[in-house]
Amino acid sequence: MLIQAKGLSKIYGSGENQVVALDKANLTIAPGDFISIIGPSGSGKSTLLHLLSGLDHPTSGSLTYDGQEIYTLSDKELSAFRRRQMGFIFQQFNLLPVLTARENILMPLLLDKKQPDEGYLDQLAELLGLRDRLDHLPHELSGGQQQRVAIARALIAQPEVIFADEPTGNLDSKSGGEVMELLKGIRDRMGKTLVIITHDNRIAAAADRQLTIMDGVLSEVEAG
Ligand code: ADP
Repeated sequence: MLIQAKGLSKIYGSGENQVVALDKANLTIAPGDFISIIGPSGSGKSTLLHLLSGLDHPTSGSLTYDGQEIYTLSDKELSAFRRRQMGFIFQQFNLLPVLTARENILMPLLLDKKQPDEGYLDQLAELLGLRDRLDHLPHELSGGQQQRVAIARALIAQPEVIFADEPTGNLDSKSGGEVMELLKGIRDRMGKTLVIITHDNRIAAAADRQLTIMDGVLSEVEAG
């Protein structure tokens, strides 16, 4: 899946209260890219992530997935596209507290009226070290385990692209390091595209391509 953002802008408010949250961002994401986007609070990271994942509409600009303009899809088409092609990982894990780890992981399939693939669930549980934790509720799991459940949930529908918003922001450095290793492994072994938003330099440095965002202006840090 080739993702191309061209001249993406998001402007909130008008007149004196106008805020340019994202200023004509251009970005090409190739299949299997591992990208980090780093910037301070309020720099436009969430805005960019919401636009790239089709959750929000830009004020101007275009976004294509394999040449298909995303923002022209109907709400229904876009939510189906997001469910099938994108996985999301959040800082706060966002697990449903009354569901077990297994039920949380399978939730995206349920929403899409798809049958769970037990073999794939088993493979994910093994990869993420969750085999003996699947019947536990989130509050019975450590932060690192909860985030691993969230990673499995992001992968269960076999999307091509994973968006992670501060995935280690709520974890101690050891669990955070483990989560990053797992995410890298997922890119290497499964060939997923990985886009990580962070304000942590160490996390950003783990990616193959690093972008910075400052006052809504996105730029790529040249390697070397
Ligand atoms: P970050 O994720 O880097 O903290 P955001 O993308 O959330 O930054 O915000 C970028 C800028 O846009 C900030 O100045 C923020 O106050 C502003 N902003 C974000 N969402 C809204 C909104 N719904 N209405 C008005 N301003 C907003």
